[in-house]
Amino acid sequence: MSLQNIILEGIPVSPGIILGRAKVLRGREGYQVSPRLLYTEDEVAQELQRLRRAVDQTAGELTNHLAELPSELKEHSHILETHLIILRDPMIFQETQRLIREQHLNSEKALYQAYHKIKELFQNIQDPYIRARIQDVEEVYRRLLGHLAGNASNRTLSFSEPVIIIAKDLSPNETTQMSGSPVLGFVTERGGRTSHTAIIAQSLEIPAVVGLDNATLEIGSGETIIVDGLTGRVILNPDAQTLKKYEARKKEFETFRAEVAQGSALPAVTTDGHAQRIYANIELPEEVSLALKYGADGIGLYRTEFLYLRLRQLPSEENLFENYKAVVEAMAPREVTIRTLDIGGDKFLSPLQYPMEMNPALGLRAIRFSLKEQNIFRTQLKAILRASAFGRIRVMFPLISSVREIREARGLLEEVKKELKSQDLAFNERLPVGAMIEVPAAVTLASLLAQEVDFFSIGTNDLIQYALAIDRVNKQVADMYQPLHPAVMRMIRDVVQAGRAARISVSMCGEMAGDPLYLPVLLGLGVEEFSMNATAIPVIKRVIRMISLKEAREIARQALRKATVEEINDSVIQDMDRRFPEIFRFGRHLAAL
Ligand code: PEP
Ligand code: MG
Repeated sequence: MSLQNIILEGIPVSPGIILGRAKVLRGREGYQVSPRLLYTEDEVAQELQRLRRAVDQTAGELTNHLAELPSELKEHSHILETHLIILRDPMIFQETQRLIREQHLNSEKALYQAYHKIKELFQNIQDPYIRARIQDVEEVYRRLLGHLAGNASNRTLSFSEPVIIIAKDLSPNETTQMSGSPVLGFVTERGGRTSHTAIIAQSLEIPAVVGLDNATLEIGSGETIIVDGLTGRVILNPDAQTLKKYEARKKEFETFRAEVAQGSALPAVTTDGHAQRIYANIELPEEVSLALKYGADGIGLYRTEFLYLRLRQLPSEENLFENYKAVVEAMAPREVTIRTLDIGGDKFLSPLQYPMEMNPALGLRAIRFSLKEQNIFRTQLKAILRASAFGRIRVMFPLISSVREIREARGLLEEVKKELKSQDLAFNERLPVGAMIEVPAAVTLASLLAQEVDFFSIGTNDLIQYALAIDRVNKQVADMYQPLHPAVMRMIRDVVQAGRAARISVSMCGEMAGDPLYLPVLLGLGVEEFSMNATAIPVIKRVIRMISLKEAREIARQALRKATVEEINDSVIQDMDRRFPEIFRFGRHLAAL
C-alpha cells in the first residue's frame, strides 16, 4: 500500500481548497498544430527563417543535454546524438522546407506532414526494433514543435474530466485556457506570488500553489491529492480522516468567502467618512462580469496583451475597437483604464520573431516594445481612441522610465488623433493619459513625470521586482520579494506626494493593492484608488469599512519609522491580526478572498 498523507509545501497564490485527481503535464505534449497558409514571398521567407531558428534552438538544447549528461547516463549519449542527426535529416528538414516553399504551409503544418510521411514508412518496416525507432523521430518532432511554439508557451490544455494540473511551469497563456475547463486547480514547480500565471488563477478563482520543488516527480498522474491554496500545502494520497478534515475546511472557507462577498456592493468608506475608489484589474473582457459581481467602481487596469496572446496573431484595429467598446459599454457609467500592450517579460507574442533575451524583464518590454513597433502601437491607440467615444476611458503606458518615453507616446497619440479626425471618426479629445510607476527611475522622476500626465498608477509587482532586484517569477528568491520593504514604502510615499503636489490622482494596481494585510499601510501613505483582482474586492472593502483614515495614517507612520522589513512586517502583522482576526484566520495571504 502506498504511503498516505504525504505533505508537500509550496507558495499559495490563489486561495481555495480542492480535492481531486492529479494530472501531470509533461514538457511538450499536446502542442497544437494550427495550419496557416502563407500568401506572400515575404511570409515564406519569414517562415523558413522561423524553421531554421527552431532547428538551431533544438540543436542547442540537445547539445546542452549531451554536455550535461550525468556520468551514469553517458553510455546512453548515442540517443541524443541520434536525435541531432535526425534533426538535420533531409526527410525532416529539407522536406519541411520544401513544403513551406512549394505548398506555402506554415512551419508547424509542414513539419507535421513531413513527420507523418516518415511515420508511414516506418510502419511498413518488418524489423520491430527498427520500426520502434520512430519514437526518436517523434521526440525530435515534438522538440521542434515546442521551439516553434516559443518556449513551451503554447500547450493546448483540454481535459474531459476534473483534474488538478501538476506541471513544471505554466505560461500565462496556458492558464487562460483553464477558463471554463474542468481544471480544478494547479501546482507548479516554478513561479511566484505576482507572476501573471498566479494573477490569472485568482481571476479564474482556481486554487493554485506554485514554487513546489519536484512536484512533477513527487506527484503521479491519477493520484488523489488535496491542494490548499490558502497555506500552500499539498497532501498526497490523503486518508479518510484527512479528507474529512479538508472537506470541512473547504466548506468553512467557502461559507466565509460567500459571506464577505455579500458586502461587496456597499461603498468603501472608512469609519471617519473617507470614500475610496476600488477598481478591478482584468486581463480579458469576460472578467468584466466578475468585476461587476464583486462591486468594482471601475476598471483600474486592463492588461490588453492577453487578447493578443489568445489570438496568437496581431489583432486588427476593428477587432481591438470592438473589444474595448464592449468592455467600456459593459462597465458604463464607470471608468475603464486601458493599459497599452505590455508584451515581453513573462509574456511573449508568438507571431513576432524576436531573438531570445537573456534578461527579458530588463529587455524589450512594454512601452519600449510599443515605441519600437510603432505600427502595432498606433493600431492599438486608434482602437482605444475610437472606443473612447462610447464611454469613460483612460489610457496608461506601462514601464515608463523617462519623460522622453511619455512625450514620444503622447506624440504618437496626437498623430493618431489627427488621423481619426481626417477620417471623421469620433473620439474623446481629452482622453486622460497616465503613466505606470513601476521602475525606480520613474519614482525618482515622479515630480517631472507628473507634469506630463493626468494620473499615476503604481505597479507594485514590477516596482518591487526592480527596486529590490528580485525576479517576480523566480521562486528561489520569492521570500525576498517583500512589499513592506522600507525602500518600497518610501517609494510609494514619494510617488503619492509628487502626484499630490501636481494635483493628479495616484492609484495602485499591483497585487499589493488587493492584499488586506497591506491595505491600512497604503491607505495611510495616501493611496486613493486601489485596483485589484476582482475576487479581492469584497475583503478589501470590508477592511476599509472597519478602519479610519486616522488609524491608517498612524499605522503607516509607525511603519515608516522602522529600519528593517522584518520589524515592519512584525508590527503590521500583529496589528492586523489584532484588528481583523476573522479575516486572517485562513492565512495571511488572502490576496483573492
Ligand atoms: C505591476 O507591475 O504591478 C502591474 C500591475 O503590471 P503587471 O503585473 O501586468 O506587470
Ligand atoms: Mg507591471
